[in-house]
Amino acid sequence: MSTLNNIVNQATAEISLSALSHNLLQVKKLAPHSKVLAVCKANGYGHGLVEAATHLHQADAFGVARIQEAYRLRSGGIVKPIVLLEGFFEAEDLPHLVASNIETVVHCEEQLSALEQAQLSAPIQVWLKIDTGMGRVGIAPEQSEQYLKRLKQCSNVKNNIILMTHFACADDTQSDMTLTQLNCFEQLKNHLIGQDKHSTDASLANSAGILNYPQAHQDWVRPGILLYGASPQLDAKHAEQNFKPAMRLKSRLIAVKTIKANSFVGYGATWQATENTTIGIVAIGYGDGYPRHAKNGTPVYINGRIVPMVGRVSMDMITVDLGEASQDKNGDEVILWGPENPVETVAAMADTIPYELLCGLTSRVDLSYKD
Ligand SMILES: *Cc1c(COP(=O)(O)O)cnc(C)c1O
Repeated sequence: MSTLNNIVNQATAEISLSALSHNLLQVKKLAPHSKVLAVCKANGYGHGLVEAATHLHQADAFGVARIQEAYRLRSGGIVKPIVLLEGFFEAEDLPHLVASNIETVVHCEEQLSALEQAQLSAPIQVWLKIDTGMGRVGIAPEQSEQYLKRLKQCSNVKNNIILMTHFACADDTQSDMTLTQLNCFEQLKNHLIGQDKHSTDASLANSAGILNYPQAHQDWVRPGILLYGASPQLDAKHAEQNFKPAMRLKSRLIAVKTIKANSFVGYGATWQATENTTIGIVAIGYGDGYPRHAKNGTPVYINGRIVPMVGRVSMDMITVDLGEASQDKNGDEVILWGPENPVETVAAMADTIPYELLCGLTSRVDLSYKD
């Protein structure tokens, strides 16, 4: 049983710092001629924003989605460039970008005119985002000449503007979408560089682009999920070869009990034992970020083996079938995902992707760090 100064029953995400630096090294091996913008939005994909960035210090820059994330990185001691991947949302943010040396994406007219109208004490580094087929943020390819011209005339903007686009289907090698996007980007880049003396850097590849499209590596790669050791690929069942899962989500058994054949388990009585067995109750649930849609049979690792989750996921608990011969004891450690139990499989059993599981942990889960 837990005591106040030795709390053991709480769910913990144990983060391997050496896995983070290992994974960055693997990205560098895959894209040896590219600079690395390490993406650490959404609390470092659940691994802790400042901690993740600190241990990815060999990256050339960091990418975040919200200005608050950039501020947190700066106050956490990160000095390398930080890029707002969707840019700033308010014109009032611009002086703060200068003060904190934060770089910005520009993807729309409002951002461009805010930059033109601002009175800033120093110019800002801009990444011009072009929509080559993702259909989300980004200017149309035919607008890019005009945008580039205005950005270059703007004294609030540094001269070497970085061209950027984002892939919609890089996780699916059967799709020809990525090649279409690459083609579009290449044509545009050649056209724009043709009329410009400044060299212009280019950035296209997210994790899946890094794995599947070497021709997309170019000047800057933008890995996210790979740094955390999970696979970006469609239908992945385990981590990519050479990458190490950085998170181990653990909790404990808080009860073990035998039940008779034909007994029901959990809300809705959706699972019925076919024979006498032992049920383990684990202190984790959707209140911690364990997916409620995980199906019967979702793998759970206990005492050196995988056992099936059975019945519905509750807010604070899940139930697992330990088998009639179970020797498991109350208090034993349980691994929900991690090196022993791929998050890719758990995600597939819950009809989602590793991204959502990793960044969906709630504040009730402790993060603990080890080498
Ligand atoms: C989140 C994000 C990435 C990283 O994507 P992964 O699939 O995790 O590698 C890269 N680029 C942009 C613009 C992003 O928003």
